[in-house]
Amino acid sequence: MKILFASSEAHPMIKTGGLADVAGSLPRAIRKLRHDIRIVIPAYQSVLKQTGKYTLVAHLDLEGVKQPVRILAGRLPDSTVTVYLVDSPEHFDRAGNPYTMKQGSAWPDNAERFTAFCRAIEALALNAADLNWQPDIVHCNDWQTALVPPLLQRHHHHPVTLFTIHNLAYQGLFDWKVFKNLELPADFWSTEALEFHNQFSFIKGGLVFADWITTVSPTYAEEIQTRTYGYGLEGLIRHRSNNLTGIVNGVDYGVWNPGRDPFIAAQYNIRSLTDKLKNKRALQQHFELPVADTTPVFAVISRLVEQKGIDLILEIVPKLVMHRAQLIVLGSGDSKLETAIQSAVKTYPQHVAAHIGYDEPLSHHIEAGADIFLMPSRFEPCGLNQIYSQRYGTVPIVRHTGGLADTVTDTTPASIAAKTATGFSFTPVTAMALLGAVERALRYYQQPQVWEQLVSTGMRQDFSWRHSAQLYIDLYKKILAQRVVGAGTSR
Ligand code: ADP
Repeated sequence: MKILFASSEAHPMIKTGGLADVAGSLPRAIRKLRHDIRIVIPAYQSVLKQTGKYTLVAHLDLEGVKQPVRILAGRLPDSTVTVYLVDSPEHFDRAGNPYTMKQGSAWPDNAERFTAFCRAIEALALNAADLNWQPDIVHCNDWQTALVPPLLQRHHHHPVTLFTIHNLAYQGLFDWKVFKNLELPADFWSTEALEFHNQFSFIKGGLVFADWITTVSPTYAEEIQTRTYGYGLEGLIRHRSNNLTGIVNGVDYGVWNPGRDPFIAAQYNIRSLTDKLKNKRALQQHFELPVADTTPVFAVISRLVEQKGIDLILEIVPKLVMHRAQLIVLGSGDSKLETAIQSAVKTYPQHVAAHIGYDEPLSHHIEAGADIFLMPSRFEPCGLNQIYSQRYGTVPIVRHTGGLADTVTDTTPASIAAKTATGFSFTPVTAMALLGAVERALRYYQQPQVWEQLVSTGMRQDFSWRHSAQLYIDLYKKILAQRVVGAGTSR
């Protein structure tokens, strides 16, 4: 099969969160299964600055886009996967984050920027860029690519489309005035199409028009059909539930493997767990915390946003201190949360340490050195750090939601006996419930035999892409077969 994988970020070229990890590793896994998959991302300034050869392969004049756009082609590092870059300097040649300005607010022209991106993907999908390559399937990801299904369905002989929701909280909502200037087909502005409560909704493009929808865990696929998690889109999603599948994300154990990780103080595996202790000492030193082998080290690596339940963690800091634990936080985001974390560091310098910022090598170091990972998310489509944590023998404490529910087995007498326990989970969104899970974990931490079992069961879990990539391939085949059966019935 020929697949065009469209995403606004892909590791290692550009990353702000889990979407990049998926876009950098799923195509690699699908390529290994011998399908011709190619990635398309915007040519952000930081991407063009990296070493790596890109050649100019096409010039495109796109409807509604003032300046001509160039398509560059290169390779995903260490792979045979082709990457197309959409080079539109007025939209992407600027310093900083792909979506936000320095102060954290969205770029004012985001609607224009990602409409141009979608128009370029449309052209690639229709082989209008003269690349002599037409995909059978366009796999779109999140709102930044969600105009592609409605744009494509206006053409005869268009590829089938799959839309993956990585986070329903981000929808690409803009007002009428913005829509008017995008020069999109007028009939997009309709409640049957992309209008949503008097706003223009990018994500509805994927939800209404894609041939199939996936999201990144089976539990999240159920949750987004309910009011609590659906943001008012639950009715539409329920309506499409016969064409909705939850596929849990895989992870790239080439990047996340404590046995080979170049960023950690001492490499280790399940047979050399004492070497994990060397990482713990190095981590405590790095953060200038007291170096103590028996002190439980809790860690957080996260975007600092309400979703992630950082406020619940802040509430229990005094209790963590009372239990003589240490807490290490790596993250950036909401300035209020950043300030609150910094003030906890000031109040408890012997117990709490933080690095406010984005630092990939440090995130590996923390995974390797910590004992327990905290992820009390209010909602979590899939989540990756609880999976990385398991491979690093760092026991996760998670809220029982979305992908966290699908990837962590709570520790109970029964799961200990069955040797399936990999972490701790709780359900109510309260600091009390989080504390309950933390105190349960601390009791087991005092029982080295049980703790070692938790650590090694976690390290043995296999969340590699092999399995999930095959599920995507099966789904691609199913969508294509459906199209043959229903030929000519494109909406
Ligand atoms: P989300 O996509 O909602 O941010 P995920 O758990 O799916 O959450 O993925 C987050 C990814 O981003 C992980 O790979 C995590 O290690 C990384 N990450 C988040 N914040 C930071 C940070 N401050 N420094 C380094 N890596 C980070």
